[in-house]
Amino acid sequence: MDLSDTPEQAVYRAQVRAWLEEHRAQAPIIRGPGAIEDEHELVVARRAWQRRLAEAGYVGVTWPKDVGGQGLGPLEQVIVNQEITRAGLPGMLDVIGVGMLGPTIIAHGSDEQKQRYLAPMLHADEVWCQLFSEPAAGSDLAGIQCRARREDDGAWRLSGQKVWTTNAQFAAFGLLLARTDAEVPKHKGLTMFVVPMDAEGVTVRGLRQITGEAEFNEVFLDDVRLDPDAAVGPVGGGWGVALTTLMFERLTIGLGGDAFGYSSQRFAEAIASDPDAARDPDVRHRLGTLATELLALRYTGYRQLTALQHGALPGPEGALGKVTMVRAGIEAGDLIADVLGPQALVAGEWAEMISYLPGLKSAGGTEEILRNTVGERVLGLPPEPRLDKGIPFSELRAKEREVPA
Ligand SMILES: Cc1cc2nc3c(=O)[nH]c(=O)nc-3n(C[C@H](O)[C@H](O)[C@H](O)COP(=O)(O)OP(=O)(O)OC[C@H]3O[C@@H](n4cnc5c(N)ncnc54)[C@H](O)[C@@H]3O)c2cc1C
Repeated sequence: MDLSDTPEQAVYRAQVRAWLEEHRAQAPIIRGPGAIEDEHELVVARRAWQRRLAEAGYVGVTWPKDVGGQGLGPLEQVIVNQEITRAGLPGMLDVIGVGMLGPTIIAHGSDEQKQRYLAPMLHADEVWCQLFSEPAAGSDLAGIQCRARREDDGAWRLSGQKVWTTNAQFAAFGLLLARTDAEVPKHKGLTMFVVPMDAEGVTVRGLRQITGEAEFNEVFLDDVRLDPDAAVGPVGGGWGVALTTLMFERLTIGLGGDAFGYSSQRFAEAIASDPDAARDPDVRHRLGTLATELLALRYTGYRQLTALQHGALPGPEGALGKVTMVRAGIEAGDLIADVLGPQALVAGEWAEMISYLPGLKSAGGTEEILRNTVGERVLGLPPEPRLDKGIPFSELRAKEREVPA
């Protein structure tokens, strides 16, 4: 996008670049030599860095001004992302909160909720997590079994289990999808809630990944009491609220050009470190294919960005960007592992990329599900048969496995 910046965008880019250079020394080193090793210290340092970025106006770039954002367009957001990547600095810590949950609260929350939660989220004073997936409901998110029932005084009681909850170990709040009515079809009986992670009855248990980090968790909810005003959006309207989060999720993962800040140029440099590999026709062919994919992805992303800049909402085509981005990243990791051999798996940027990216095939919607979305909602192909359509949730087989209320 460098090439096509308008004069205003070029000025904005120069400002972001200058600010990052000026504040480089305050950014934490999060990987490679000198990286902060202690997980707690790392979170503290990343929160402080997000606060600095927010104070400079580089977090919540597209959020409206009246909730603390900059009121700018998605192109400016991409410029910030590109400049942070170019500078080799970490971005904000709470991508899930600011990128997905904040926009959901902006779209569906009450004025009180916006007032209470959004500014501390932007500044990383309160980090958020997404409490959607469950052991028996990931792709089939509308099949969740976590229950919320209303008490006589209007308060809610939550019981159930969530899983794969990124950042729950240090989050202050979670946005949680729960079933509030099992006697209607599964998509209709859901409600979204704000859950304080320090509430009585919330237990967070870490899950360690192949990367060595424990960034996601199981979360157990045992008769957790929530205030009457904890629902985000209408009671029974949680599916619509969740769709907003999912749209922003795919956009957050899939948009913006290169594979997670890695460019084909960077891959080529890694390969060039082995002169034999650099001359090998098979390696060159694989690198060329990858570069083509990334270029196509970049321009598809720009087309989507232009539509967003003109006021369109993120649509199902975002699924295509996410699938292509993750596949390209994994293929790049395979190529680099083939060239560098076991060296690629020694701690460092490639080891992290190779071990982390396969998880992203599932995060934010699996490839099969996203291909179904593209087939049905972009290409207009016939829909998958849905045998549970119109049937009350309580009559579905999932009921056999539900958590006792
Ligand atoms: C790194 C990471 C971070 C995550 N962070 C969070 C988080 O913060 N919060 C959160 O709520 N969740 C999170 N998740 C969970 C993620 O959303 C789920 O993994 C995802 O929705 C898939 O659900 P599942 O793992 O239960 O797989 P399943 O739904 O059980 O799917 C298993 C396999 O079956 C396939 N499949 C299922 N249904 C169909 C179908 N109809 N047609 C064709 N194939 C099908 C899938 O594609 C997949 O290959 C995270 C996951 C990962 C890997």
